Amino acid sequence: MNEKHIPTRLSLSEDETPKFWYNVRADMKAQHEPFLHPGTLKPCTPADLEPVFCKELVKQELDFSTRLIKIPDGLLDFYRATRPSPLIRARFLEKALNTPAEIYYKHEGNNTSGSHKLNSAAAQAYYAKAEGLTSLTTETGAGQWGTALSMACAFFGLDLTVYMVKVSSIQKPYRKAVIETFGAKLVPSPSDTTDVGRSILKNDPDTGGSLGCAISEAIETSVKTDKCRYVLGSVLDHVLLHQSLIGQECKAAFEKYGIKPDIIIGCAGGGSNLGGLISPFIGDKINGKSNTRFIAVEPASCPSLTRGRFAYDFGDTGKTTPLLKMYTLGNGFIPSANHAGGLRYHGMSPIISKLYDDGYIEARAEIQTEVFKAATAFAKVEGILPAPESSHAIKAAIDEAVKCRETGEKKTILFGLTGTGYFDMSAYMSYNDGTMSDKIPTDEDLERGFASLPKIG
Ligand SMILES: *Cc1c(COP(=O)(O)O)cnc(C)c1O
Repeated sequence: MNEKHIPTRLSLSEDETPKFWYNVRADMKAQHEPFLHPGTLKPCTPADLEPVFCKELVKQELDFSTRLIKIPDGLLDFYRATRPSPLIRARFLEKALNTPAEIYYKHEGNNTSGSHKLNSAAAQAYYAKAEGLTSLTTETGAGQWGTALSMACAFFGLDLTVYMVKVSSIQKPYRKAVIETFGAKLVPSPSDTTDVGRSILKNDPDTGGSLGCAISEAIETSVKTDKCRYVLGSVLDHVLLHQSLIGQECKAAFEKYGIKPDIIIGCAGGGSNLGGLISPFIGDKINGKSNTRFIAVEPASCPSLTRGRFAYDFGDTGKTTPLLKMYTLGNGFIPSANHAGGLRYHGMSPIISKLYDDGYIEARAEIQTEVFKAATAFAKVEGILPAPESSHAIKAAIDEAVKCRETGEKKTILFGLTGTGYFDMSAYMSYNDGTMSDKIPTDEDLERGFASLPKIG
């Protein structure tokens, strides 16, 4: 197709938007190892998971074979109001970089919660309500997941308690305010409201908390509360399933306009946006129908794919979750302060871990000053203030586009712009005034994390 006919915003009509989620496991040649019950070390059954998670989500979690899963009508109505998210050709960035590459980004920050997390939050709240539950618990690190879920719970009529990593709740008072405005209860973690919180505080009264610790508190509360379940915003297979909307919308729009991506890039914290963005395309790669490259970008301060071990580990510091085989830095690894709070997680989605281990995905780690340099360059020309997390993908997209300038190749690059950075202004301030630092864990730091891995077999 002649380039002139491709608009800057690739639109989709309501009829063209996806009505099904895509389950990449149905196309994977080899599956990730099963979740193990931490007590018996046997694969988890639905009965093991249902005390903690909603029934329908457990079913999706354990479904390795249904390729397309129908989005229920009540939920589709919600998606129609907030989606499709914009898919934009970064013409100004291309021009600024003087690159022959075509760059596209999928902008998931275009809803009030400000990130892609709303896609799974809405699905999980929908199923919880349909099952007759009255409340949910969760954790939030940087605050995006808590914001998205509070919005979804307000919409579907559920009570919500959010355990927010203590340092984040102090650094981001406006996140807290949004969460509370949507009617959720916010508890800085570790707290004295749970056994695990109290025991962590006893050992380390001044701790700023961690995502793993907040997860333990949220699970404990859900198990002890009637008609309450715990929900998680990343890592698990059902979350990647919900996020497949992102990639499916891109694929539908690209097919409509005759565009074939050569490189698809996403930032990787727990792996949900990356998984959702690439899975519909990776199905084609697995089946030999495309040769697209997939790149995961993580922070150098929390390098689970590039420096972690592929091992069974707990999802949380309190060692309460099932064991997941994944790339991990160890559940006891506490990453140094980094402004990309959403990427500070010790582990990685088992699906992404498996695809990476099997060679379908590349990974790289970036230091935060370089990431903010890319964020600023992007903001100036494209007029969007990106989240620090998303800016990891921007950094890699710029690097690939610059390579094209050097080689003269006209590659098509797609990256996930997972969110906006309006609540991250202290990070931008520290970048702008030159006080931002880069902390990279030493090998000894990593060894301390690996020492917390459970000994399996
Ligand atoms: C949470 C978050 C991420 C990282 O989470 P994934 O599960 O790896 O996608 C990235 N970007 C934004 C804006 C987020 O809120």
